[in-house]
Amino acid sequence: MKIAVLSGKGGTGKTTVSTNLAAAMGIAYVDFDVEEPNGHIFLKPRNLEETDVNIMTPVIDHEKCTLCNICVETCQFNALANTGKKILVFEDLCHGCGACSLACPEEAISEYPRKIGVLYEGTYDESGFYSGKMALNEPMAGPIITEIKRRIPKGTDHIVDCSPGTSCNVVKGVDGADYAIMVTEPSVFGLHDLKLAVELVEEMTIPMGIVINRSNEYDHLIEDYARESNLRILGKIPFSKQAARIYSEGRLLSEDPQIAGIFDSIKATVLEEVSHAVSHS
Ligand code: SF4
Ligand code: SF4
Repeated sequence: MKIAVLSGKGGTGKTTVSTNLAAAMGIAYVDFDVEEPNGHIFLKPRNLEETDVNIMTPVIDHEKCTLCNICVETCQFNALANTGKKILVFEDLCHGCGACSLACPEEAISEYPRKIGVLYEGTYDESGFYSGKMALNEPMAGPIITEIKRRIPKGTDHIVDCSPGTSCNVVKGVDGADYAIMVTEPSVFGLHDLKLAVELVEEMTIPMGIVINRSNEYDHLIEDYARESNLRILGKIPFSKQAARIYSEGRLLSEDPQIAGIFDSIKATVLEEVSHAVSHS
């Protein structure tokens, strides 16, 4: 079972829902928000192993290079430029696909492993913990997410805390999920971002439901939309000083007996939805 948790933008409580639900379900937690991972703050994983994530980046041998321009035309990411005197490599744009070195007729391109981030593997409670972090000034999250994905043993039940927004990195998190949980806040902006995320998941034909975080008197904004769109509200997490305090201390909200019941209820509803989705797939 794979459950993807996403939100149209950051700061809506996606990690709160992902970590608390993973702990309530006793399944692995996977943090794909490699730009700003913070699941570890709440789950406090142990035995963390850190591994570098590298991509192979071209190096031009200017002695051999004839400036034929084939590599520049081959690169789909505009990571190479021909100044007329030499070939420049813009490492930030390079995706490490290797196409340029294969295309070079002079064998003038070699490659070196460039570190773009790290991944972490460990455990929290009795379950797996997988996370990653982009290196400073490195813009490429995709290869780190792909590497984290590769590390999760086949058949492991897990919750993916997706990147915020609706980028291709979110697609990587949702891809192959049995169910998606959309986390939103009851506001006009929250609804706007929710709609974008729902469109994305609909296109991927993955069943989904909504969790309203910081539930308040404007819940009807989300509830009306959910009704019109035939989406189930899986649960509501109230806005309270107690919840804010627990969060700011880096603890799971489910440590509070009053809030724990909410996650048990969300867990039961999600499991019901997942089993319904799996039996109809
Ligand atoms: S490895 Fe791929 S992305 Fe990088 S410069 Fe070569 S062709 Fe472009
Ligand atoms: S393909 Fe090879 S020889 Fe041609 S410009 Fe690129 S590095 Fe130089």
